[in-house]
Amino acid sequence: MLSLESRKITPLYGLALRRTEAGDPESIYSYVLRLAFEHRVIPLALARTGLIAPQNNLRGELFMCRDGAALLGGSDFAMATCQSLSEATGVKDLHGGTLLPLRSIAASQQLLSRVDRVCLSCIREDVCANRKTFGRLLWRLHCVSCCPVHREQLVEVSTCPVAEPAPGKPVQIYGVCQRCASVGYECRPPAESASAEDVDTSAFCRDLLAVAADLPPDYAATAKRSLKEFSRNFVGGCAAIATGAAINKSLLSRFLNEPQARLQLSSLVNVAKVLNIGAVDLVRGNFAQASTAPSLHVDREKCPKRKIDHAELRAALSHALSDDSLTIAKLSKSLDVDRKLLRLANPDAYALIVQRNLERLDVTREEDWNSALRRAAAMLRRLREMGLKPNLRNASVLDSETWQPSNQHSKLLLALASPAHKGVATYWGFPARLFARIRHLVQHDALRTDGQELTIRHILGGPPRWRHNTRRNEEEAPAPQSA
Ligand SMILES: [Zn+2]
Ligand SMILES: [Zn+2]
Repeated sequence: MLSLESRKITPLYGLALRRTEAGDPESIYSYVLRLAFEHRVIPLALARTGLIAPQNNLRGELFMCRDGAALLGGSDFAMATCQSLSEATGVKDLHGGTLLPLRSIAASQQLLSRVDRVCLSCIREDVCANRKTFGRLLWRLHCVSCCPVHREQLVEVSTCPVAEPAPGKPVQIYGVCQRCASVGYECRPPAESASAEDVDTSAFCRDLLAVAADLPPDYAATAKRSLKEFSRNFVGGCAAIATGAAINKSLLSRFLNEPQARLQLSSLVNVAKVLNIGAVDLVRGNFAQASTAPSLHVDREKCPKRKIDHAELRAALSHALSDDSLTIAKLSKSLDVDRKLLRLANPDAYALIVQRNLERLDVTREEDWNSALRRAAAMLRRLREMGLKPNLRNASVLDSETWQPSNQHSKLLLALASPAHKGVATYWGFPARLFARIRHLVQHDALRTDGQELTIRHILGGPPRWRHNTRRNEEEAPAPQSA
């Protein structure tokens, strides 16, 4: 019998990280979505509890942006998140759902896809078999474009080809379209089939992910040492491996000679293809089965060189100095050059334009807050005048449906109307300077009910229509009605 002492009570259910039959893991993003679903909260709300978002000053948003890309890589943020998730759930091996185990060998560039992708057939098989489906870490790798089982292209699920959105937002869970709520992404046409080479790449990555979590801590050093030794017997040596795998020779030699150096995952795949070995052999440094002459040449991705006209960049920057509407982003887009090149062309002009834009942004932001605050306070006044409860539904009835929970003025209305205005303001992440103004408004609201002369229009300059009202009146107000 299991003794109670051996079971630690944790704040969240101890869901295990899932794996496919081939052994490749669920992504930690999918895990968080499942965890939230099991606890019947939205994922962002779970992240905001601080139980799983270690850098809670980011308020959990980092969690969900780019479909959890920040969580999946080999970053320190991913490490800290896995640690807090493990503490919160009592489950130990959660780092297996990220690329942390590969961070000593695979570089972070071009590691993850920008958005979430799925294999429609994998998802539909799960749905048909009545299994709960989950997102594979494999699907998020940049160099993987297809499913190794079904040999078909992965599909991005952030957009939906069906025009009609579902009423309300569907629960965020794998296998359900976020726009039209169709289960198993039935809204999409079947995926296209993938090329044999792409299938090879994804099978290689799947095998790599399947063993990644069990690799010894110093596997990268062992693999590098063995590869270096092996390359001496290889026809053409290290240079031939680099050429075959379409990697820069100096990059490969740096990888082999410097302990900290890493290669992009796609380059590692190419090296394995050239040596004709599997993923497990490559990372374990086992080259006994490898061919000693290049087994194939990988085509280098063509990247046409472009001549940069620096005089043109300098002229554009000087022109931008006299034109207030131009920003670095606009320049970089219109000239189709990197910001770095613009900075190199004329550092002083670049700095001035950036500074000008920052100042303008500050002003616009302040104006936005001011107008949102004016609008929220005016609506609160109107609602109270009419004896209606200050909620977004009633506000929307009065004002053409623009009062949605995501809008700035709506959040401000809730903060002004709530007795715990500071808590609401903190929850929505309002800038600190706004707290005083909200408090000011709310206090004068209370002063006014005490019969004093300060009114909201002294602060906002709004029309003097705001009348005496107390919270008691509000409670006794009739049920919300349309105006
Ligand atoms: Zn599949
Ligand atoms: Zn859909």
